[in-house]
Order: sequence, then structure tokens, then C-alpha cells
Amino acid sequence: MSKYVQVIMNFAKTEEIDRLFTYSIPIHLAQKVSIGQRVKVPFGQGNRTQVAFVIHLLDNLTEENYRIKPILELFDEEPLLSLEQVNLARFLVNYYGCTFAMALELILPPGMAKTPYRPLPETETYICRGLSLNDLEKYIAKESTKKSFDKQRAILTLFMMEEAISLEELKKSQEVSPSSLNTLIKKEILRKEERLKVFIPNPIAYDAFKVLNEEQQMAKDKIYQAIESPYYKGVLLEGVTGSGKTEVFLTAICKVLEEGGSAIVLIPEIALTRQTLMRFRERFGNVVALTHSRMGSGERQRLYQEAKEGKIRVMIGPRSAVFMPMVDLKLIVIDEEHEATYKSETTPKYHATDVARRRMIGCGGTLILASATPSLESYYQMQEGELELVPLTKRIGGATLPYVQIVDMRRELQNGNMQIISGALHEAIERTLIAGNQVMLLINRRGHSTFINCRNCGYVVKCKHCDIAMTYHRQSGYLECHYCGHKEMIPTICPSCGSSHIRFFGSGTEKVEEYLQNYFGAYGIGRMDFDTTSGKEGHSKVLEAFQKHDFNVLVGTQMIAKGHDFPDVTLVGIIAADQALYLQDFRSEERTYQLITQTLGRAGRGDKKGEVIIQTYSPENMVLEKIKYNQQQAFYEDQLKVRKLLGYPPYTHLFSLVVSGKNETEVIQKVHTLKYYYEYYNKKGLFRIVGPAAATISKIADEYRWQLIMMGVEREKVLIYGKYCLNKFINRENTGTIKINWDIDPRSMF
Ligand code: ADP
Ligand code: ZN
Ligand code: ZN
Repeated sequence: MSKYVQVIMNFAKTEEIDRLFTYSIPIHLAQKVSIGQRVKVPFGQGNRTQVAFVIHLLDNLTEENYRIKPILELFDEEPLLSLEQVNLARFLVNYYGCTFAMALELILPPGMAKTPYRPLPETETYICRGLSLNDLEKYIAKESTKKSFDKQRAILTLFMMEEAISLEELKKSQEVSPSSLNTLIKKEILRKEERLKVFIPNPIAYDAFKVLNEEQQMAKDKIYQAIESPYYKGVLLEGVTGSGKTEVFLTAICKVLEEGGSAIVLIPEIALTRQTLMRFRERFGNVVALTHSRMGSGERQRLYQEAKEGKIRVMIGPRSAVFMPMVDLKLIVIDEEHEATYKSETTPKYHATDVARRRMIGCGGTLILASATPSLESYYQMQEGELELVPLTKRIGGATLPYVQIVDMRRELQNGNMQIISGALHEAIERTLIAGNQVMLLINRRGHSTFINCRNCGYVVKCKHCDIAMTYHRQSGYLECHYCGHKEMIPTICPSCGSSHIRFFGSGTEKVEEYLQNYFGAYGIGRMDFDTTSGKEGHSKVLEAFQKHDFNVLVGTQMIAKGHDFPDVTLVGIIAADQALYLQDFRSEERTYQLITQTLGRAGRGDKKGEVIIQTYSPENMVLEKIKYNQQQAFYEDQLKVRKLLGYPPYTHLFSLVVSGKNETEVIQKVHTLKYYYEYYNKKGLFRIVGPAAATISKIADEYRWQLIMMGVEREKVLIYGKYCLNKFINRENTGTIKINWDIDPRSMF
């Protein structure tokens, strides 16, 4: 029997106390303490009571230590964390260099840390008929003459049909007034009763599954093998948009459920539509649940518990859902795995794919990464044999890939077209709409014009607080900074040279919309970007309206590229393919390729032939070439060659540091000092140090930002080196007013 525990303090956010502390277990608690449970312990010299997580149970201590204090009492009735989750926390500590307490905070839903864990109540409150059906009818007839009876009647009508309804259900109904309900209970027409809660999982609806085509069948066979095997297996499900990937992983989930397991499906939040959820619900019914970031903490805690108790077997959600405490977790699917949103921006800056892989290795489960345009990281792992390629090459229903045309906007200008829509695109839009089909247009920025500049001296209106050009918004009539929200009036004369030739430049969503309204307004124009889709289900609404042909042209940013299915969209236009290409990031070509390819996937999803027009100022660009000729493999091979040559990921791992502060001189001076530390501890030359240099966005909200990057081949060494030198610097130097933010394996370089 275990006599001692090793615990992690709940509040251990700093490195000094982020370690195991040993306590003894008093006899009366001996049978009750387990791993993953929280206990109350006396801590420090003042013996203040603190909450701590039990991480290890020990039978003996290697050294007698008389100063060991006993546990005071239990905090949770049952362990809050499973052994698997404790191991997961340990992984996060080692892999992302965070504290144990931070890792646990990530794994638990918000608010869970404060209250003791107890199992969900086994009973629930029901409201039942207090009279027989007959007597109830008579009662209603008798009271009906009274005017004040309306609200009560609304409630009693429900009880004409059912003998008992759960209180929770009644509360949800809008017709039920709580005070009338109480009156009826007082009069003993209705009564309260505690009833046992029974959860009956819906059976799998086999009828709802599609008959797979040959390719899907092959994919399914491979994935079934992986699921049947007791060992970890990673799969790269690479298939063009509309090739039936979702259908394949739905069958994989089916298999997992048949075997008593459970699954997590990660989706980029923006891609979730009611249709996606329906596809899961119609097959797996009430064992499916959905989480999202707008959910309140109470609701999240309930989901966590239902998952932990094995009621929820299929969890759908954004990256944080990867931590859900599923019972017998056997499968994690990451849909659109190349999406940047799978990487967290707050410490610990985990990547959902890494966490998912780790969990599946621990559980002997299967990881499916699905995408039409995999990340270069995943493609590389596939080449290295760490992921098995499961390809889907054909679109469902034989739909062919769209015809791609590249339009040179420089020539357009020479020919006297000053508009943002080329002649070819204009003509295609017209033709498409007349034929009764729909059009999607992709723009990379929101706002009316990207920026405002002076034709005389080239001055660009930038935000006072950030190193970013201000954006003009027609709706508000102001210039706005997308980084800090700062607003300004439009200058009438150039602040730099006094010229009045200050004009709008670039082309945002609003400007394109304006053009379309002029020429094609009769067909209905819709817009989708962060301005129009804020608020709950904002983008779902826009998409549903589009599907119903409420409007026939949809203009939008990145958002429109995500997996929605519109059979009548036969034309996709990319307004300016150049914008994404000019960001200073070694991933910008990969990103551009993915964004454009995903967007083209929207054209011709039904049995209609699709058409794509890409407008650009650099038609000779290699990325666009590869897209035009649909040479995906060649694109990835090329990119890998370049990355290898330059020593970039996936061949190396990056440790990136951003030093920021309001005092520019101080920031620059400190970041240079910091670099000395990295040079000093790099005597063997294992690491490459790049910088320091002003970050791509060199100022945000009045803080100057400088970046320093370390690269190395072995991830573990990069992390240790990165943190070690930083800690030395912090301990020995006066860091003044600067802030330091670091990231291992960053996915963007801002
Ligand atoms: P992806 O996830 O690759 O974009 P989906 O699985 O969403 O593709 O499939 C695209 C469309 O084709 C969906 O409307 C889906 O219902 C349909 N579909 C998929 N597989 C089949 C099949 N075997 N038979 C008929 N329709 C299918
Ligand atoms: Zn000027
Ligand atoms: Zn700003």
C-alpha cells in the first residue's frame, strides 16, 4: 500500500516551485488517494493550506525524511485527471518547456481548477403530473375561463402529452414561465420528483452512410487496419477538395465506436457549419458533442465530465478539444491539418497535431491528418515513413478539377483598364451569373482599400502606434489599424509633402463589393470577412444565405476558402494572388499555395465544370505555375529542396524570441546583449543564430519588437539551449522594461 504521494502545487506558475513535493498519506486516507486526484496539503513555512495534484504514489522513500508532512484531506471526490492525462501533462512540460501547472491548466476546462470534482449527479429533477390525465383535462376546462390562466395552460398542454418532463428541458422552452410553473406545483397540479438519470446512446445509423467508391474503399481498408492494430499509426489522408475525405473518416469513427472506443475530430473553427455537425449527428446521434471557443465555462465543464464518464464518444471542436478526457480514446482526426489555427498563440504554444500524435502513441490509437494541401511538415513526415499516405485523387461524382486561367494585371493596366477586376474576370462573372450559377471571389485583406498613399512622395498613412499601414473602411469612413484598433480621419493633404494627390491604393473587400454592386447588383452580392461575421454563427448565416441563392456572388477573405460545399459555384476568382506572396516569412509560398488551392476547390463541386481566374502582377511566379498545372507533388518537392538548402523547418527546429518594449533603444540594446548569451553557449556551433532584426511587424500598440532566431537539427537540444541561455540572461542582466516572448517550432514569423 502506498504511504507517500508526490504532488504538483496547483498554483505553481513559477519555475522555483514547479517540481514534485512529497507528503505522507494518513491511514484514514490510505485507500482513497489516487493519481490525478487533488488533495489539500500544508505548504511552506507558514503551513498554508494549498491544493495539489497527486502525480505519483510511493510505497517507500529512498531516504528517511522526518520533515515530511501529511496530506490534510482530499479536495476531489474522484480523480480529476486520468493517468493518461497526467502523462500528457508531463509530455507538454518536456516538449514545450512549460511548467507542470501550466500544462494542467491547458488540459482542464476553464474554472475547473477552483471547484472540487464530483461525478455528475445520477438523478435529475423531473416535473410530473400531479393528477390523472382525466382530472388534468377537467382542471384545464374549469380554469380556462380565467384570464390569468393562459401561461399555466401553456405549461399544462405539455403535460397532456407527457407524464413527466425534466426540469432542465422545461427551462429551455420559451413558453414556460417559471412563476406559473411554481404556482402549479404549489397547487399540486404538478409535482417535483427526483428520477434516475439514464443515458441511452443512440445506435449507429448505418443507413446514413454513403456507399464508398473504389478509392474511398481502399482508404477505408488501410485505416481499418490501423484501427485494428494495437499500436500507434499515423495516416496522411491527402485528397483534393470534394474527394470524400470526410466520408472516409466518418467510417473510421464508426469502426472505433463499434469497438467501444471514442474519437476526437478537430476542425479549424471557422470551417464548422451546421451541415458539418448534422453529418455527424445523423450517423452517431447523441454520443456526438461539439465544443467551440464561444462556449461558457459551465458548459465546457459539463462536456468535460460527460466525456470523462464515457457518454460522449465523438468530440468535435477546435484545437483545444485535443485535450478532452475521452474514455478509450482510439482515434484523433485533424481535418484541414495545414491550418495555422492548430498552433496556439498563448504559452504553452502547443500545436494540436503534436499533442494528438503523443496521445495516440500513448493509447495505441490512430491519427488521421486530412487535407487537400498538407503542411510541409506532414508531407515531410510522410516521406520519412512516419505517416502513411492514404490518397484520394478523384472528386466525387467524377467532377473534374477546374480550368485555371492566370491573368496578368500589368498588361491589363497597359490596356487601359484601371479597375480591380480584369476584363476576363468581368466577362466570366457575367457569363456565370446569366447561366444561373454562382461566383466566389477571394480577397486577402478586409476593408475598402488596403492603404492610402501619396502619389507625389510615396508617403503611406501608417498607424501611430504600430508599424502597419492603416486601412480605409467605407462603412465608418475612417482609417483603421487592424492591430490595435486605432482610428483616424483620412488626410486631405499629404502629411509629408503637402500634396493633395493622396489616394486610395490596393483593393479590399468593400471596394470589390462596390464594383460588383455597380455591374452585377441585380444578382445579389454578399460579403464575408471579420467585419460581417462577428457574433454567434455569423459566418454560418452568410453561407446559408448563399447556398439558398439569396445572393449569387460571395466576396470574402480567407474564410471563404474553408470546406463548404456549394454545388452551384462554378467560378472562383482570386482578385490579387500577390498579396500573400510578399509577406516576409519562409512559409509564405506554402501558405499562398494552400490558400489558392483550397479556394479553387470551391469551383465545380457538383456535376458542373468549374473555372478559376487568378489575377496577379507576377504571372511568372512558380507557385502560380504549379497551381495552374495542378502539380502538387512537384510543388512540395521543390519546397522541401529549398527548405533543406536554407536549413529551415521541417529540416530544423526554430526557437524564436521576440523582445518588445516601449523604449526602442532599450529593446535594441537588450536584444543584442541577449544574442551574446546565445553565441557564448554555442561554442560547438550546433546552432545557427539569425538576427537580431526588427520583427516583420516592428511595432504593435506602441511597443517596438525585435526578433532573434535560433535553429538546430535536434528539437530537444534546441529547446534546452533556447531556454537555458534565456534564463541566464534574465538572471544576470537587468532586463529593464522589456518583455520577452519565446516559441519553439513557431508556425509564423510575425
Ligand atoms: P471532402 O471532405 O474531401 O471535401 P466530402 O467527404 O465532404 O469530401 O464529400 C464531398 C461530397 O460528396 C459530400 O457532399 C458527400 O456527401 C459526397 N460524397 C462523399 N462520398 C460519397 C460517396 N461515396 N457516394 C456519394 N456521395 C459521396
Ligand atoms: Zn506626399
Ligand atoms: Zn495600430
